[in-house]
Amino acid sequence: MTNSVVATVDGIITYLAGIFDNPNINYKELVVLSTWVQTAFEVYVLRRQLPCYERPLPPPALKQHLSKETFTKAQSYSKDKTRFALLKLIFDQFLGWGLIKFGAYSGLWSYSGRLLSSVGISPNRVITHSLTWMTILTVLSSLPGLPWSYFQTFVLEQKHGFNKSTKKLWVMDTIKTYALAAVIGLPVLAGFLKVIEWAGKGFVPWLMVFLISIQLTLQIVYPTFIQPLFNKLEPLPQGELRSEVEELAGQLGFPLKHLYVIDGSKRSSHSNAYFYGLPWSKHIVIYDTLIKDSSVDEVVAVLGHELGHWYHAHPTKLLLVTQLHLLLTLTIFSIFINNKSLYASFGFDPSLAVKAPQPICIGFMLFQLVFEPTDALVKFFLNAETRRMEYQADEFAVQLDKRSDLSSALIKLHITNLSSPHNDWLYSMYHHSHPTLPERLNAMDNYKGEKSLKLKNKPAVQDEAETEAKKDL
Ligand SMILES: [Zn+2]
Repeated sequence: MTNSVVATVDGIITYLAGIFDNPNINYKELVVLSTWVQTAFEVYVLRRQLPCYERPLPPPALKQHLSKETFTKAQSYSKDKTRFALLKLIFDQFLGWGLIKFGAYSGLWSYSGRLLSSVGISPNRVITHSLTWMTILTVLSSLPGLPWSYFQTFVLEQKHGFNKSTKKLWVMDTIKTYALAAVIGLPVLAGFLKVIEWAGKGFVPWLMVFLISIQLTLQIVYPTFIQPLFNKLEPLPQGELRSEVEELAGQLGFPLKHLYVIDGSKRSSHSNAYFYGLPWSKHIVIYDTLIKDSSVDEVVAVLGHELGHWYHAHPTKLLLVTQLHLLLTLTIFSIFINNKSLYASFGFDPSLAVKAPQPICIGFMLFQLVFEPTDALVKFFLNAETRRMEYQADEFAVQLDKRSDLSSALIKLHITNLSSPHNDWLYSMYHHSHPTLPERLNAMDNYKGEKSLKLKNKPAVQDEAETEAKKDL
């Protein structure tokens, strides 16, 4: 039974691989066209949002909460952010287009081969060659983004009073990010290529096992080894807030292991809260900025919302969705792995697609270029899903009788973060993982269901597949 399913899938993959390996398909032109179409769509979406910042009054639902001054500030900040996003989008498109147009992918492949030869390493060592190629490609394509990141922090955020970072901290953050990408990214990429090389034709299930174990390891390692490189987490001191959070966690059966405060104020005055951890041992992290700006009841209400995500096993569900997406992506990749036309249209020797030792890295990179525009559809879907989860978590807080505290906390967050008061519907659908504040306040006001939780009805087993998932507010 299983064997016949595997044989059928293999047959379909081989059949499709034959159809898509066609010299008449110019993959390069297809990628160029589709990225321009995607960018045009994204420019259109951002431009739809711009007129929202010219509206003179807040939406009715926020009228009583936003002072004239806050409203004007929020409009001006959001407008600057959207204009920045628009320019960055166009810049990135030209950069990506330039790299394709001027043959950077194949040119740098030859260059990295020569570089290796010059230090006495054979370019036929495909994994070493691939890692060198990816390093050069990543550095070259990400360096032009650094001035944008600098501008965003020290001009845009600074102008609106959010930036708390220093130039030294920014430089250190950038160096640490590159170093981490190398220390983690390169071995993972080597392992990824090795698994495909070793498993051969039926690599997909093996690669899934490899990638899932990497994700799980990273999620366990992240709070202990990676996050401390950027932020300091300290136990929340004893006091009213701590005992209230512990009491809430106790009532709900949330396996709270550690309760931390994070020094988010080191870089920015934006605020938040989240939880993470293994199913039997969870940690809650609260931003110092959230504690500073809110009352104890409001912070507890925010955590009530977070625990709603846990109660409904949202991180587990999102984890499953992302794994399904990964599985689908890898299965489609297996159709393209030996596609000679794909290699040829980007200026590579087509025999690289079939002869051993095959540089699989090239095929995967080109495949990603071809399929990148489908990410826009995935984004629509995922945002719709996370917005539904946000409503559910808000509802949970209402069931805990925290409606008014959560409402006032969300209003305060909206004000301190200067979130955009007006939003175009398509812009919202594409860019927002959370419903807008008026939508959330309305949904909570109109909630007609059970007002108190019957905790004995809580499912006995939930997030068993979840190891560590992070979900912000
Ligand atoms: Zn949430």
